[in-house]
Amino acid sequence: MRSAWAVAFLAASACQHVPAPASGSSGSSGPDLTSGDLASESSTAAAVVADLGLASGLVVRGATVVGVGRVDLLVRDGRIVELGEITENVAEIDARGQFVAPAFIDSHVHLAYAFDEPTLAAGGIAAAVDLAAPLGFLDELHEPLALIAAGPMITAIDGYPTQSWGAGGFGLEVDGVRAVRDAVDSLADAGAGVIKFPLGDAPSLTDDEIVALVGRAHDRGLKVVAHALGDAQARKAALLGVDVLAHTPVDPLTDETVEAWHSGAVISTLDAFGGSAVVVDNLRRLRAAGATVLYGTDLGNTGIPAIDPNEIALLVAAGLDGEAIIAAGTATAAGLWGFEGLGTLAAGARASFLLLERDPRIDPLVLATPLGVYIDGELQPEPFTADGGIKGG
Ligand SMILES: [Zn+2]
Repeated sequence: MRSAWAVAFLAASACQHVPAPASGSSGSSGPDLTSGDLASESSTAAAVVADLGLASGLVVRGATVVGVGRVDLLVRDGRIVELGEITENVAEIDARGQFVAPAFIDSHVHLAYAFDEPTLAAGGIAAAVDLAAPLGFLDELHEPLALIAAGPMITAIDGYPTQSWGAGGFGLEVDGVRAVRDAVDSLADAGAGVIKFPLGDAPSLTDDEIVALVGRAHDRGLKVVAHALGDAQARKAALLGVDVLAHTPVDPLTDETVEAWHSGAVISTLDAFGGSAVVVDNLRRLRAAGATVLYGTDLGNTGIPAIDPNEIALLVAAGLDGEAIIAAGTATAAGLWGFEGLGTLAAGARASFLLLERDPRIDPLVLATPLGVYIDGELQPEPFTADGGIKGG
């Protein structure tokens, strides 16, 4: 069996009518092309595709599509065209025995800090929410990722993170209610898709400033994310109308704080703080109270530019099963942030998905080692180096 990446390399070679490479050490398992004989080095499936002039598109044949069942999946022009029994004469990969899940959404990254968009895409990430970057980041293109970015956090004069890691423009310092509203407007006008502020040690925004920030952001159609690691800060964030916690708080939460978040959302980032028993238990309790859990890694502060097996293992420890983890990293996040066509595998959706060796609902860690990653219908470069490490990791 060859991995999807090996198949793609064959296709590229065949288009130029050069001999296909020897199979070498590429993956020991994975989908095969069935429209040709992969055992023959001189007559590859891809060569058949090229020579017969098949219609454009790709069929992923016979995989179990998570949430749908065992179907073929027809991809064309970056979208899923149809799920069912596909008879069209297009190139195909044999994915029988494999599983297909949506590519992931990481709801907490810092791409201005480390890594880049193509690296994340290769690691199975279709979309991300960047929760603090200098203002100029909002002007940049972020293909192939779908990206929502906060730009700089709105913070008090000399407030977090301007005196520490965020000294280079990661904070927008304000003083007063009017200045807070102007800051929200300036970020929204610059293209911010979410507003973030820190709630922690002084100097911090006042309650009046926070209320003004939340109100203005909501007027502009933007959700508000708070960095609030302590119990009192997390409770205050909920009471002042904040939508999302940037992190699972790290201090033990009171029942009152947990209950205050029953209709809010929390981005997991369990591994970013070492995955302590306290932080894991906080997430378990927040979820039990009704809070929406979003998969997020704080990439930049953590170092795996892909679906992170450490984060998944900690989500399991917090009581999430495979289906819940998939939801936290796909459909739930797409719905909360408004990523069109992502997080779902339906006709018309973006063709951004993972090919998996095992059922991620039973073994969610398999999400971190996809056999193939497609983003908008494009097979991504293999993210693993020859020695099994992750590039840039
Ligand atoms: Zn962060």
